[in-house]
Amino acid sequence: MITWFNRWPETQARLARWALLIAWLGLIVLLLKPELGPGYRSSVCLESTICRPGIANDIFWNIGLPLVILAVLVSHELWRRICPLSFVSQLFRALGWQRTVLNRAGKPQVAAISESSWLARHHIQLQWSLLIAGLSLRLLIVNSNGPILALLFAASLLAALISGWAYGGKTFCQYLCPFAPAQQVLSGPRSLLSSQAHLGGGSKTTQSMCRTVGTQGQEISTCVACSKPCFDIDAERTYWQSLSGQRGMAWAWYSYPGLILAFFLLIRSYAPAEGSGIDYLKSNLFTYDGRLAAMAWQSLLPAGWPQLPRLLAVPALLSAGGVVSERLFHQIEQLQRHKLNSATSPELAKERAIHRTRLLTTFTAINTYFFFKGNLLDSGTTLLSLELNLVIVAISSVWLYRNWDRDRGLYERESTSTSLRRRLAKLGPDLQPLLAGRQLDDLSPGEVFVLANALPVQETSQRRSIYLDVLRDLISQGRLDRTASLKALIDLRTSLGLDDADHQSALEILTSEDTRITSLSANDLAGLNLCRNAAAQEIEDLLLLSGSTVLHLDRLDAHGRGRLNRILIESGLDDDSWAQLLSDFGPRSQFGERQLSQRLQLVNQAMAHRDSLAELSRRLPLAAPLVLSLDRQIARFLPDLVALIRSGLTAPGEQRPDEACLALLRSLSPNVLAFLAAEDDTTTAINTWLDGAIVSPLQLPSLPEAAEILEGLWLDTDPSVSLWALMVLRQLDAPRAERLTKAHRTGLPTSSMLTSFLQGEQLASREILTLIADQPLIQRFEPGALLELHRLC
Ligand code: SF4
Repeated sequence: MITWFNRWPETQARLARWALLIAWLGLIVLLLKPELGPGYRSSVCLESTICRPGIANDIFWNIGLPLVILAVLVSHELWRRICPLSFVSQLFRALGWQRTVLNRAGKPQVAAISESSWLARHHIQLQWSLLIAGLSLRLLIVNSNGPILALLFAASLLAALISGWAYGGKTFCQYLCPFAPAQQVLSGPRSLLSSQAHLGGGSKTTQSMCRTVGTQGQEISTCVACSKPCFDIDAERTYWQSLSGQRGMAWAWYSYPGLILAFFLLIRSYAPAEGSGIDYLKSNLFTYDGRLAAMAWQSLLPAGWPQLPRLLAVPALLSAGGVVSERLFHQIEQLQRHKLNSATSPELAKERAIHRTRLLTTFTAINTYFFFKGNLLDSGTTLLSLELNLVIVAISSVWLYRNWDRDRGLYERESTSTSLRRRLAKLGPDLQPLLAGRQLDDLSPGEVFVLANALPVQETSQRRSIYLDVLRDLISQGRLDRTASLKALIDLRTSLGLDDADHQSALEILTSEDTRITSLSANDLAGLNLCRNAAAQEIEDLLLLSGSTVLHLDRLDAHGRGRLNRILIESGLDDDSWAQLLSDFGPRSQFGERQLSQRLQLVNQAMAHRDSLAELSRRLPLAAPLVLSLDRQIARFLPDLVALIRSGLTAPGEQRPDEACLALLRSLSPNVLAFLAAEDDTTTAINTWLDGAIVSPLQLPSLPEAAEILEGLWLDTDPSVSLWALMVLRQLDAPRAERLTKAHRTGLPTSSMLTSFLQGEQLASREILTLIADQPLIQRFEPGALLELHRLC
């Protein structure tokens, strides 16, 4: 049995898609030419005089659609991998005939829906309006009219085809398909048999992510990040993000049960008076009713009431059903929020109330649908209908129970544990004694944190390296927002025995690797990572085909160059990212070299900052404690730098790093080395390399302005350092310091002393501190320690 449909081989999924598409095209033919079909009609037509010929409407509305809904309920990834409309939308991509536009660098790339476009901002409202319009059309004519239903199908196929040509990814599924928001409602955080993308699982193509088959049968991602976050990559992540901030989703979700109820009640309103004894809805008679077109102009209300043609009444009543439902569930949400407020923080209470109300909404919607729908296969058999209803109640109850206590925090903790697990796995045999015979993969997310905690205490640099890798992983995947990361990873730091300053150093290292982490949003970073991974997998496939493991651009034949060019056009990567990607596959992968040069640059920059403040402290001794803080910061970068230098010493006989590295290490302040004392390994390596080495003095770039550095320190994770930097800046440039106080320290910890200082309270001991700051003993103290002294003053 297929438990996780994301692992279902793509080659088989393709066959299923073809089969469904052919079946659908056959159904369209049957809708247009009912005489080609079998003579079957619902048995109810033997008793009714209103039937028109043809069974295709019955097949689609009473078997096809309920099965699709059931499939989504059980596993959204199953349906999204076999949906024939999605398949059609990908045809131009498979043929390589998609529309391209010129990017900022003037190079062609496949067009994409811009996040700031109207469609990206309002697609849920558009799709939900299309759904209501579609339901209205069903009631008015399409329930039983073959040619018009065929026309609608043809229009949908054409729309999918054109959107797939005009834009990359699954633009039709994400932005246009009216059923897409309903799929989100039906799945909730996770459907019953869907895999959990955030828990990893070894596959690079998660859930129903876009993919293709490589030359050796391996699955390759073809993701171009058309939607961020993407329901096909990680439905649960999309769910938590949609709780607030996805325009139109709240309304769509809560209105769904009302729409379903209104829809079925309106179907019942079409029941003929003469057919007493026949259940117009459950007997499926409505899909054979030949009177619909004529009834569109008749009043829905009985004689004696205001005359309102169904053409107007049907959409109005459907929308009214949606509005009433939305109001009702909104009230339920408020009640829950009120109840939860006393037990938890207001934000958490709000999120939990929305989450639980959404679950209740879905539960109501799905059971309402199948209660009215009854049995799928034929009219009348009450027992079968009851059995189906019981199955649906059971499935939806299990789904409700599984999701009731989930929350965003749990999801994020599990995500972090996945990155941590991946990183811990690299420790290999070193981990075995701690696992006590168990496998790393068998540990629960909580146990993975405990394992991290059990790492040998003395290996702080290893813990920092683990933290850095986990942070890199989470930020690059967009699972963590940079500004919220300090708070979000507090558990991980506790497990690894690290502090806030370690987090700051890790962030600075990541910024030195790619400055875009400070300018791009979490979703944009995730998008970049997805495009990069997809392009990397394509390049790997290209290399497999050529039987090489290294990409030699000059040795590629015309076919190889053409394919590489197509990968670039489809990936949408900018020049820098593309060049970086190619270099990773280049001769003697330059990845390590690039990383080392980034770290050297980072340490160089930190030393320039330190020297600038050291110069300032000669005129303004109050700045001296900050020099010590920067020394500590530099010391935090060193274990990682030394590890990179070591891994680069691969040539036989190569004992020492190059001159530039040695010059930098030689210029380190004695304070830095003192801070490193606990990192014996790092200190030993530095001392060994420097022992007897003749090195010319380090040439630092021109020193940055001290005021600029003080502004940077305002955003230090340590509130004492921020306070001290502000105090020094006030001495140096008061207006600038005043402006700085307006810049929020978003996501950073604060202290009562910093808050009081910002509110205008002067440090009583400032004068004393200024006086004593140039004393050699005091220069051994960092801002935190000196502010503690202030408390004593
Ligand atoms: S974001 Fe990627 S995986 Fe998701 S639909 Fe778009 S292209 Fe496919």
